[in-house]
Amino acid sequence: MIKRRKTREITLGTLKIGGEHPILVQSMTSTKTHDLEATLSQIDRLIKAGCEAIRVAVPAKEDAEALKVIVKYSSVPIIADIHFVPYMAFLAMEAGAHGIRINPGNINKKEIVRDIVLEAKRRNICVRLGVNSGSLEKHLLEKYGYPSAEALAESALNWSSFFESLGFYNFKVSIKGSDVLQNTLANEIFAEKTDIPLHIGITEAGMGTQGMVKSSVGLGILLYKGIGDTIRVSLTDEPEKEVEVAYEILKSLGLKKKGIDIVSCPTCGRIEVNLPKVVKQVQEALKDKDLSIKVAIMGCAVNAIGEASHADVGLACMKGGALLFKDGKILKKVSEENMVSELLETIEKYYQEV
Ligand code: SF4
Repeated sequence: MIKRRKTREITLGTLKIGGEHPILVQSMTSTKTHDLEATLSQIDRLIKAGCEAIRVAVPAKEDAEALKVIVKYSSVPIIADIHFVPYMAFLAMEAGAHGIRINPGNINKKEIVRDIVLEAKRRNICVRLGVNSGSLEKHLLEKYGYPSAEALAESALNWSSFFESLGFYNFKVSIKGSDVLQNTLANEIFAEKTDIPLHIGITEAGMGTQGMVKSSVGLGILLYKGIGDTIRVSLTDEPEKEVEVAYEILKSLGLKKKGIDIVSCPTCGRIEVNLPKVVKQVQEALKDKDLSIKVAIMGCAVNAIGEASHADVGLACMKGGALLFKDGKILKKVSEENMVSELLETIEKYYQEV
């Protein structure tokens, strides 16, 4: 059981972050924000995938304008992503954004950061304070020689103190290093010194397998240490994929229950059925159901009895069919052609009983 770091509670729209609250899954739209048709449709898909807060880029006035519609439309909080043009932060807040993300390092005037923070305080808007290796302050670069983990953590601590000196506490911090190890260390240093909630992610993790592995390892290490109040998996892919991977990471660590958790074997020479086909059919049949259930689908009886005893329902396949399990006990033998429908029926019954 992972012991989560104790953090202060903050508010993002109607959601609470930190404290005892579950880790929040975020993602970001990849559309031009002002293209309302495309953005709203992507927001729909993200919400359907389980995304709990959505960030949209606000590089220009037309995007800030579009926020007015987006905020009204979305059933989850909207965070405006601001870079280099601080004026957009004010427009986004005025448009009703529930949160804004700023990197003080790329707003080169401290007075402007102060004004943004005071406006967020006045409107009770959540701020994500971002620090990354590409926009580290000059004096820290001189002190450490390069954007080391220590330098990143120090920058985040300095800016956090500045926010707090203005009487503003409704913020979380994100520290993004250039690689997994630097990222881990920087977050660890920061986490030890404060109770400020942390948003974690591996920035620019990449595409496909590489992106998923990098994110899983980077986020997995931090989450295992109890660090992380909100997460984003950054992938060069559809944002819904980010949400799917984020949940799989959280589920694998027992930090979130959402959807079906299928335990299936890698298959080997003992296999007697087309297991990938069975798993795909079950996944497909349950993908839109809001069920929290562990299903074991094993290629033969070798490991099935042990695995099935930890699952809610399961199939142990054998020549011509499978043994159907529920709560670790064999219910009956089912034929190969009926095994998927029998399993789905048992899942249905399971939900009627619990
Ligand atoms: S459960 Fe059976 S088929 Fe699957 S990998 Fe193990 S031994 Fe092979």
